[in-house]
Amino acid sequence: MADEKVNECKNPVCSCPAQPDGKYCSASCEGTGKTIELDCDCGHPDCTGNF
Ligand SMILES: [Zn+2]
Ligand SMILES: [Zn+2]
Repeated sequence: MADEKVNECKNPVCSCPAQPDGKYCSASCEGTGKTIELDCDCGHPDCTGNF
């Protein structure tokens, strides 16, 4: 397969690419699955959800 699909983090407020082996960019985002979070604590500087 030549094309590598870039999955985005499943946390809606997060704009980071997910890890290759997961649906989230970080453990922080993975923990938000149960509750709706308005900001993201993943710590990635490019994340638009991190206030
Ligand atoms: Zn994020
Ligand atoms: Zn994320």
